[in-house]
Amino acid sequence: MMPSQADVANELMRLARQIAHHNRLYHAADEPEISDAEFDALVRRNAELEAAFPQLVRADSPNSAVGHEVSASPLSKVAHEVRMMSLDNAFADDEVADFVGRVRRFLALGEDEPVALTAEDKIDGLSCSLRYENGVLLRAATRGDGQVGEDVTANVAHIGDIPQQIDCGIEVFEIRGEVYMDKQDFTALNAAQEASGGKLFANPRNAAAGSLRQKDAQVTKARPLRFLAHGWGAASALPGATQQEVMGAIESWGVPISPDLKLCHSVEELLQHYRSISARRAGLPYEIDGVVYKVDRLDWQARLGFVAKAPRWAIAHKFPAERAETVLERIDIQVGRTGKLTPVGRLARVLVGGVTVTNVTLHNRDEIARLGVRPGDRVVIQRAGDVIPQVVENLTRDVERAPYHFPDHCPECHSEAVAEEGEVDVRCTAGLICPAQRTERLKHFVSRSALDIDGLGDKTIDEFFALGWLESPADIFHLHLRRNEIVGREGWQDKSVDNLLASIEARRSPDAARLLFGLGIRHVGVVTARDLLKRFVTLGALRDVVGRENALTEITAIDGIGPAVADALHDFFHEPHNVAVWEDLLREVSPPDYIVETTASAVSGKTVVFTGKLETMSRDEAKAQAERLGAKSAGSVSAKTDLVVAGPGAGSKLKQAAALGIEVIDEAAWAAIVAAAG
Ligand SMILES: [Zn+2]
Repeated sequence: MMPSQADVANELMRLARQIAHHNRLYHAADEPEISDAEFDALVRRNAELEAAFPQLVRADSPNSAVGHEVSASPLSKVAHEVRMMSLDNAFADDEVADFVGRVRRFLALGEDEPVALTAEDKIDGLSCSLRYENGVLLRAATRGDGQVGEDVTANVAHIGDIPQQIDCGIEVFEIRGEVYMDKQDFTALNAAQEASGGKLFANPRNAAAGSLRQKDAQVTKARPLRFLAHGWGAASALPGATQQEVMGAIESWGVPISPDLKLCHSVEELLQHYRSISARRAGLPYEIDGVVYKVDRLDWQARLGFVAKAPRWAIAHKFPAERAETVLERIDIQVGRTGKLTPVGRLARVLVGGVTVTNVTLHNRDEIARLGVRPGDRVVIQRAGDVIPQVVENLTRDVERAPYHFPDHCPECHSEAVAEEGEVDVRCTAGLICPAQRTERLKHFVSRSALDIDGLGDKTIDEFFALGWLESPADIFHLHLRRNEIVGREGWQDKSVDNLLASIEARRSPDAARLLFGLGIRHVGVVTARDLLKRFVTLGALRDVVGRENALTEITAIDGIGPAVADALHDFFHEPHNVAVWEDLLREVSPPDYIVETTASAVSGKTVVFTGKLETMSRDEAKAQAERLGAKSAGSVSAKTDLVVAGPGAGSKLKQAAALGIEVIDEAAWAAIVAAAG
């Protein structure tokens, strides 16, 4: 049975909240509550729902962020020349077969043409990119958000696995891999930390992250970190034509790679290797959370390209969920940006698959009722894949004890909290009177996918909000008037205040799509914000359209945007408070016109239709090429069509094109256009 839209909307809301929450924990303190696999499972579930229900994509959709956000650490930032991608995940064997099937279809391979893939264990460490220029290690950077990481050059100088020089004979070569800590070294480090009263790390990955991301590289020096290469980033030349050849070259330069890297020639062989690694997992010196498969031929990798944030040519096959029993000690209620009350279960500490778990998500009132959980109950929790733990069973539900009463008042502002008809979530009804909702909105506004203001973290927002300095987003841009007051506060020095004010000033001309997303309008996620601005170019034009009678028609004419977005925009601009926030804000900032960069080509701005069988590429690949060249690909021929690319077997569309006098070219001519654009 298909889930109802309300169910899906609720689940998306829950996921956005969870993912943001765990992102924050991760980068704020290297103290996650959940494993990477559990986190991945959430991100993946969110992506699946968004793909199936594009009209329900949330304003705060977590889908555009890769991995974890860059922390507010004192390390300097480094932009990656080639984005550090994340990987799509597979959990079941048939998903691996599906992946290989997709690769075949995309490349339009014949049935008997073999597809070789490499398979290697996926180390649970911290991704790092090492840039060598003429063989000399110039810079090391963490993944960060995939586009901007942290400079850890001084830190990796103390990692023996990372050579300062390699004999590669290539001008620029970035080696990518994982910085990690062996299980034994992790246990010893935690024992030493405990003895000295220091902080304990949740797992080897966090120990590695905490040890590497140190302002003082001497701390890193004292920690036993290792490195394993699994790929590369920017490269002026490649020492091979396949994944395996390049990895072999990296190893020959003295950089360790996985001893379990194997070239496989069928799905069966991949799965066999997966099972072999899985059986040896506990005995491996390091933590792993799955096996990564990559298409071996690099020319195929190039054709397959990327979808959103992940390559089409690789997938991580994750190990299954792990479970444990513990006691649910307490249920806390958190209040979100939209007033939603989210219950979080606090557990007696328990180890699940090597990770200490103290919190579980309980989703909402109905979920608590379904599980029949009450504080004091013994529960089975699960980390899906190895990410957010959840309660899967209540072992003491038959024990006589009063049921848990979900609060009917907001724990932050004590206003009434209710669930609207047909909604699962209970919300604080106080709206912008509720301090929790107001601060959460401000936090969203400055978050990485929105305005991305460095140094304006959650704590600072709470602090300034409590002082009455931040009533609305525009007030962020008035903080410079309070410079002396801030300097006078504990924890602030001239330099830190100047840095904060500088990063605020740096946002006076923000990206219009980020600004729109940051306003937190329902259903206006990162992608929707971009699509709206691609069409309307300026925020002023967008607002004008919303005010017009034919707004619904104009807005829903955009591909992928439905009436829910149009309604949400209408509602937003008909609320006087929102208009005031909007106008105040636009007095402070002036976003430049939103113009999308594509490669200039003979088909830029044109509408292209592909029809018939394409011989050297799939339809998806052809469409992706068109988009890169600034063309729009359409499914049917009409008077708006500029060009038809026809392969053998093209039928009615070819006739229509002829009738309308539209230019028709073959696949070779299309390939020439693509090649000409570079
Ligand atoms: Zn409230």
